[in-house]
Amino acid sequence: MDLEKIWETVLAEMEINISHANFHTWLKNSKLINKDDLGNFVVALPTNFSKEWVENKYQKNILHILRDLDSQAKKIDFIVQGNIFSSNQNQKTLKGNYVSAPTQMAFPEFKVDPETNLNPKYTFQNFIVGSSNELAFAAAQAIVKEVGSKYNPLFFYGGVGLGKTHLIQAIGNEIIKDYKNSLKVRYVSSEKFTNDVVWAIKNKRMEDIKKKYRDIDILIIDDIQFISGKEKTQEEFFHTFNSLYALNKQIIISSDRPPHALPTLHERLRSRFEGGMTVDIIQPDYEMRVAIISTKLQESKHELPDKIIGIIAGKVNENIREIEGLLNKLIFIKENKGVEITEEVINEIINKNTQVNKNINPNKIIKAVADFFEISINELIGKSRKKEIVEPRQITMFLLRNILNISFPFIGDKMGKRDHTTVMHACEKINKEMEKNINTSQKINLIKESIYKN
Ligand code: ADP
Ligand code: MG
Repeated sequence: MDLEKIWETVLAEMEINISHANFHTWLKNSKLINKDDLGNFVVALPTNFSKEWVENKYQKNILHILRDLDSQAKKIDFIVQGNIFSSNQNQKTLKGNYVSAPTQMAFPEFKVDPETNLNPKYTFQNFIVGSSNELAFAAAQAIVKEVGSKYNPLFFYGGVGLGKTHLIQAIGNEIIKDYKNSLKVRYVSSEKFTNDVVWAIKNKRMEDIKKKYRDIDILIIDDIQFISGKEKTQEEFFHTFNSLYALNKQIIISSDRPPHALPTLHERLRSRFEGGMTVDIIQPDYEMRVAIISTKLQESKHELPDKIIGIIAGKVNENIREIEGLLNKLIFIKENKGVEITEEVINEIINKNTQVNKNINPNKIIKAVADFFEISINELIGKSRKKEIVEPRQITMFLLRNILNISFPFIGDKMGKRDHTTVMHACEKINKEMEKNINTSQKINLIKESIYKN
């Protein structure tokens, strides 16, 4: 059986196994490009993002199907290969030439270790400690020394951009380092956990979930507020929690609010969360903001006069992500436009930004896109699959994420109750499109301008 036939068969089966949206998003553009006599298969996917996803979620399922076709099938390697289908010639040269395939990072944050899901860029060393997070940091350090026995669970909460993800991932990275890989760590966002549960229920593979999340020593779960109200996911999380807890395994949780303020959380989960250590992270004060700016400048080998640092620290006081964003902009302007960073320059940039934060909301973005493409909002969030509607729809999702930084599920909800994987796919697609197509980036800039102007 040739590669094409084999893959056709696998896809046909997968199409039945998973939801239509998921199939389209993740598998439609895949291709089997090699198979050797030892039962090793190589599958190409168009982006790193889809590779990660398919690898983590569908690998087993696919291998299963392959084994039915070919009893020798042993292992699948996934590789990234842009332009899988761009031309016949390309398809031919692909075979046997896959190792040097250019790997493109669609989202830098996906440079994660596939085993632990941790991003190595988050460390204790580059976590700046001040009065707003010193308790949280102390608890994090204590956990690393006494995994599972000191505070369990350890629950961090605080607003966006204050360093929760950084801190909990840093704990994971530190444990890996200190215990020389002898402890199994797994980091997961609660969006992904939810997804896994939904998938497992649909495919009757709850055993996979149990293995994945209970057969570990440290479970780190980010943004737990998203499981509020999701019955099955809460249920599964409750069992996972209990099973780990009973074995003294460490559980680390982050949330945007304290346990008692999670509206639709089951009482029994809430009391579990409150049974450990709960620490908040608050907004950094002026001194700490100065320290953050200086350190970040040092890290990126850039300099600004103390006076300017002081001005920035005085103005940007929401969160640390905002500080990083502003510094990146300043550095960009300085390097690419040769503009000296003065107080006026900073004021101008900040005014633009804060305006953005103040009056922009999802409805405004949706309306701006509809107006720009001269279609109705109903069409935009409706079901039509016409190209003239699909592109604006994807751009809307991209802008909602890009400008307001809101969660994929929330965007999905807003955009006609779509699955969040559809949103992730849309954002990724537009991101790539903007890189290679000047037309798209121009369109998006025009829409952005109209959003900021009004
Ligand atoms: P949250 O998860 O609370 O929304 P993140 O952990 O994603 O916030 O932090 C936002 C950005 O700010 C990240 O790039 C992170 O590395 C940086 N950051 C946050 N807190 C600190 C800190 N104390 N020291 C250094 N960088 C920080
Ligand atoms: Mg976070």
